[in-house]
Amino acid sequence: MAHKYHILTSPTPARFKPITKAGIIAWEEGCLKCARCVKKDCVYKVYEKRSLDSRQMLDSLDTACMDCFRCVQNCPNRLIQKSINPLYKALGDNYWTPEIIENIWNQAENGRVPVSGGGYHGPFSGPGFDAMWTDMSEIVRPTRDGIHGREYISTTVDLGRKLMSLEFDSGGKLISSPPPLVEIPLPVIFDVLPWSPGGKGINLAFLEAARNTRTFAVIHQADFMTDMDEYVPNIILFADDDVLKLSKEMIRRLKIIELPDSGNVMAIQEHLKKINPALVIFIRFRLSRNASVRAAALAKEGAEVIHLTANENGMGKAEDPLFIKDRIRQIHSHLIEAGLRDEVTLIGSGGVAMAEHVAKLVICGADAVAVDIPLLVAMECRVCRRCTEGISCPVDLENIDYAWGASRIRNLISGWHNQLLEVMGAMGIREIRRMRGEMGRAMFFEELEKEIFSGMGIKGLINGK
Ligand code: SF4
Ligand code: SF4
Repeated sequence: MAHKYHILTSPTPARFKPITKAGIIAWEEGCLKCARCVKKDCVYKVYEKRSLDSRQMLDSLDTACMDCFRCVQNCPNRLIQKSINPLYKALGDNYWTPEIIENIWNQAENGRVPVSGGGYHGPFSGPGFDAMWTDMSEIVRPTRDGIHGREYISTTVDLGRKLMSLEFDSGGKLISSPPPLVEIPLPVIFDVLPWSPGGKGINLAFLEAARNTRTFAVIHQADFMTDMDEYVPNIILFADDDVLKLSKEMIRRLKIIELPDSGNVMAIQEHLKKINPALVIFIRFRLSRNASVRAAALAKEGAEVIHLTANENGMGKAEDPLFIKDRIRQIHSHLIEAGLRDEVTLIGSGGVAMAEHVAKLVICGADAVAVDIPLLVAMECRVCRRCTEGISCPVDLENIDYAWGASRIRNLISGWHNQLLEVMGAMGIREIRRMRGEMGRAMFFEELEKEIFSGMGIKGLINGK
């Protein structure tokens, strides 16, 4: 049996008090001055230990309360109430919801799979990834238990171009020369961030976590510094500045270089391959209406890995916006029709916020996924975007200790790996390479809705179409 992939986790507390969902409102007016106030009965001693974090202006009543409701229920004059913390409601936006952010914070702290305990409370369906369900028909088979090791489930993927056939000479000697491949134990790489407050600690945390989890982190060419030298085996250098500025020595040391798509990108690939034939080249471009045609043209010309990017909410270019899962399905199907799909590796990025999104993008046809904002959220980012306006970061991300950041990211990725094993186990799939493009094992809300209601003249429930 292959050696089991396991990510070491360790509890890594937040530096700042996390913003919690429920706050406490305790009125003084009308107090009956009971001999035994319910506040004294709090088993967590929340009222006795009450303090104010003057740096964040946070009352510890809101952050230390464990939501047992004992004081709320027992106060005879109903002077204590629980309410949704307004700071919590203000976290993130419609896509990066407070629930998603809180979920990532918890996983980054302890590396555990989030468990809601009381069943699923969300809507039946929604936009984006929520309009897709995976087939969990094998969930009752206890042998398919990847987390606890009773059956090995592989999440390993190869990045690179694959040969469709091998040629041998008359003596049986292999004469085909297979293109270089890079293997990663999890279909996740770390991408460049759409925004961040700067500071090299963030990049170093990404790289350290990439090394620990045996994956890769994409680094802008201009951000590469000499103190990242030891991480070169885990770096995907995004040559978005000027690839000709890269020294031959650097090109020979790197395993992967990413190029922005351009008219002469294949000529650049050839130039780099002459210097280092073992190099794997990614070609990166933004999802759009023409993405299928462009991906097929690149695959035909010899592209090895195509990195398809969406914006932070998973949408492609504005002139023809389509959610990433839907566009990747189109591209995957187009490449199959052109007989090119198995030759090239597809990576999708943008809007990936939860572990289930990784599984869903793979089912839609991506070989692997590049993750960005969740890694920053793992390091306490609140998705307030103040850094995009040059305003100081409320959680001082520019000055983090990279080892602390890497530990939080490692915990998050471990939680995601375990959730991926859960999904695959429940689907009865033991090999993630076989899950790629398995759209027959998923249901898509818009398609079901169309199938059922199109003949009745009823408008769509999601977008009114
Ligand atoms: S709700 Fe429970 S934990 Fe929170 S302050 Fe009241 S008694 Fe303490
Ligand atoms: S917390 Fe706000 S300012 Fe800090 S990195 Fe996140 S989005 Fe930027």
